[in-house]
Amino acid sequence: MPIEQISACKFCGKKDFLLFLAKERMLQLPGEFTYSECQSCFSLQLINIPDNLSDYYPLDSYYSQVTLVESSYLKNHLKALRLKLFLKSQWNILRPSYGYWLKKINPKLNDQIADIGCGNGQLLYELYASGYRNLQGFDPFIPKTKQLNSSLTLWKKSFDDSEGHFDLIMMHHAFEHLNDPRDILKLCFEKLNPGGRLLVRTPVTDAEVWKEKRELWVQLDAPRHLIIPSIKGFTTLASEIGLQLEEVEFDSSAFQFWGTALYEQGQPLNQALVKTLFGPKELKEMNKKALRYNQEGKGDQACFYLVKPIKS
Ligand SMILES: [Zn+2]
Repeated sequence: MPIEQISACKFCGKKDFLLFLAKERMLQLPGEFTYSECQSCFSLQLINIPDNLSDYYPLDSYYSQVTLVESSYLKNHLKALRLKLFLKSQWNILRPSYGYWLKKINPKLNDQIADIGCGNGQLLYELYASGYRNLQGFDPFIPKTKQLNSSLTLWKKSFDDSEGHFDLIMMHHAFEHLNDPRDILKLCFEKLNPGGRLLVRTPVTDAEVWKEKRELWVQLDAPRHLIIPSIKGFTTLASEIGLQLEEVEFDSSAFQFWGTALYEQGQPLNQALVKTLFGPKELKEMNKKALRYNQEGKGDQACFYLVKPIKS
């Protein structure tokens, strides 16, 4: 494609690119994909989005398509109790896996909460089990719309077609699968109540792993990831739309190291291989390194905490 036909950076609007090629590595499907790296904000975008993009999301192997697991009435009570204690205390032992961002946002139990790209809805279900009562998931790729109970509906539709307004909108590793970051952030802005919060968790190109390993980086995930922002690119765009950034928190894990190492060795993303290739000591070191990278602002994914300001 001639360089003048490549659209401007979707984050900062500049038109100074470095192009590179990437392969599909998770399942080792054929094809070559061209990405541009903005030389101003260092965000990435996929230039040639395949027409058959859905073929790269096979139902049986893509992680968000596994079946939702519901827990018992008693277990749900225990989950609600655990969350209540965790939110009110410093007891990290009680922390559920989603605890760090939930504690920061601290929504009320009757807040209207939306999850964009909810997949099987497991996260919303855990929030329901913990006592949240107005939960909606949106995902055009789920088999069908499903109302689990009076508190939780999973819609087979895109967020554009949602009704009403929300106090909290979340995107957990869904943002990078979308084509237009401006459209989605604008839509979130419109759909938030004043003072409402937006949480976006996504890979970021500030990652040391990206800088070192380039197209072998596991979270490049060609061609499913259509955009990957840098902190600078994301915050520039969000503030243009009127969203106020409260905090950026890095939350990368050992996955960035072992996933990238699998690709370096020419392997697909097969979790069963991890324990045969890396010893417990090595995996422990990777966990420690991920924590250090997060503190130093060079982990490979981050949480953006944003708010729609209340106009005076
Ligand atoms: Zn840019």
